[in-house]
Amino acid sequence: MAAATPHLRAGTNSVQADPISLGIDIGGTKIEGVAMDGNEHLLACHRIPTREGSQAVHDDTVMLIRHLLDQLGPNQGPVTVGLGIPGRVDANRGMVDDAVNLGIHHMALGPAVAKTTGLPVRVENDVNIAALGAASQTGDTLMTPGATPHSQAARDQARRPATEPGRDGPRALPDHDDHTVAFINLGTGLAAGIISGDRIEHGASGAIGEIGHIPVDAHQFPCKCGQRGCLETVASGSAAQALWPGIAHPLPDLIAQAGQGNQQAQDVLDIIGHGIALAVQIVALTIDPAVIILGGGMSKTGQPLLDLVTEHLNRSAACSHFIASLSLPDRLRLAPADLPIAAIGAALAGRMAADSRPSDFIGKETAS
Ligand SMILES: [Zn+2]
Repeated sequence: MAAATPHLRAGTNSVQADPISLGIDIGGTKIEGVAMDGNEHLLACHRIPTREGSQAVHDDTVMLIRHLLDQLGPNQGPVTVGLGIPGRVDANRGMVDDAVNLGIHHMALGPAVAKTTGLPVRVENDVNIAALGAASQTGDTLMTPGATPHSQAARDQARRPATEPGRDGPRALPDHDDHTVAFINLGTGLAAGIISGDRIEHGASGAIGEIGHIPVDAHQFPCKCGQRGCLETVASGSAAQALWPGIAHPLPDLIAQAGQGNQQAQDVLDIIGHGIALAVQIVALTIDPAVIILGGGMSKTGQPLLDLVTEHLNRSAACSHFIASLSLPDRLRLAPADLPIAAIGAALAGRMAADSRPSDFIGKETAS
């Protein structure tokens, strides 16, 4: 298997007049940016540490955009920018609210960056861009007849970047207009991003996919949202840390300790495995996606996470012909761990907004 590092193309001769899509993922600890050409080749990547506050986030985002463009050199085609950020995002207006980890309460991020750079800017929620990026990179597995998600070949294929040299016609998204892809972000919190065809679903208020705060769990642990028993309290990185404290990466440790017969670890692992399987079931039964991608920090656990969730889904299937008939384990994929999927998704979101939804798009015309 070829190294799944982004395929960087040096020099500028080959990118003359090619449209450039910049994608910036603004996270709690780092801001990661990519530049892609019209064929979704990654041309450049760069990351910088995050500083808190609206002004710092604006300044650092602009600096990263300029750095990426400098790396590409002159003679670029039209440039679009997509930004992903945590918090509540009004994608149509480029507004961000309550990105608490970034010290942002309310910010006109899209208009501000568009005004400073003179470039059209699209802003999306961070889970949504990760969903779009992951869906674009795992799409070929979807299209492979006979591929099963648990075969090594399918896993290799899911992890292989669409940008790998020698592959035919790399592209942003496969032709899965008939398909919906769900991306379950198992990060500090729990939320899902929904991609229908090649579009991010937003819902009426932008709350689509906020499954972490569905109060369903019998343990009734208190949640930071004010409720008890939220799914996020048993199916997220913060849940694992609360239930198995003092360990930097609790899930791999839990799996290892449970494997050695530690009953306490097994009990916690059962709670988390059941919680994530519940999240998968909720997503499956509400939107019925063809593919469910597990992403976020916990997904870096890799195959043992898939095995854990599959085990719990199979428990439900064992007592329910209905659940068994849904073949949920077959729909599961792991997000590619070695690609900047959120930044890639941001670049795709920015380009698609410019291509297809100009009226929603914050460009230089509306930023002044
Ligand atoms: Zn909650």
